Amino acid sequence: MKFGFDFFLILLIHSSKSNDLEDSFRQQGKRKILVESIRDKGIKDENVLKAINAIPRHLFMDSSFEDHAYQDKAFPIAAGQTISQPYTVAFQTELLQLKPGELVLEVGTGSGYQAAVLCELGAKVYTIERQQKLFKKTQNFLRQLGYRPKFMSFGDGYKGLPEYAPFDKIIVTAGAPFIPKPLMSQLKVGGRLVIPVGEDSQLMTLLSRTSATKFQKETFGEFRFVPLLEDKN
Ligand code: SAH
Repeated sequence: MKFGFDFFLILLIHSSKSNDLEDSFRQQGKRKILVESIRDKGIKDENVLKAINAIPRHLFMDSSFEDHAYQDKAFPIAAGQTISQPYTVAFQTELLQLKPGELVLEVGTGSGYQAAVLCELGAKVYTIERQQKLFKKTQNFLRQLGYRPKFMSFGDGYKGLPEYAPFDKIIVTAGAPFIPKPLMSQLKVGGRLVIPVGEDSQLMTLLSRTSATKFQKETFGEFRFVPLLEDKN
């Protein structure tokens, strides 16, 4: 009798665990369709598309909103923040032109989805989040999923991470009213900084550092992000 009850309990625990991080065939199928729609919108980098295909985006959202995970849309996560639109994640990542082993700084960890994409591409990822609750939640979650950023920081992304600089690439995933100087100075010569710049809507901006003192600027159309805020809380 007792054996039967324990066995039932173990089964129950086991099935609830495996459901937690489940990635079903149905979800994988929806993800394939999402990847094709992003390709149709103009993303060409096969490695970026592969990374999006590999990452179970539904797990980065509250389970009651899972159905929205494979629409190409931004979506609210905890603490009034958003998980960026998959196309936007792909667009910014493509602009970075990442190579495996490069040091990348991400400003705005949020759900951790973009950080997972960077890890999937073989980068050494450093990421900063200014909201403590979100920072802790995402730190645990990425670990659970098996993604291992080199360093996750609770802090102010306007300041970058001088102790780990210089970086090959820097990506900002919140709308910045201006390009923070510390981020420019923490970029290697030959490095790329991808940052949406603007108040209500943002121009996707690529700064390439061509020498110790020179940066080349290009812009790539309008996007909408939650604001890059000053001071952590
Ligand atoms: N990369 C995230 C996008 C999250 S939205 C993802 O893939 O889900 C932008 C994030 O930037 C929010 O979590 C917000 O709290 C954070 N943020 C805003 N201002 C910041 C700052 N100054 N420093 C660090 N993070 C900041």
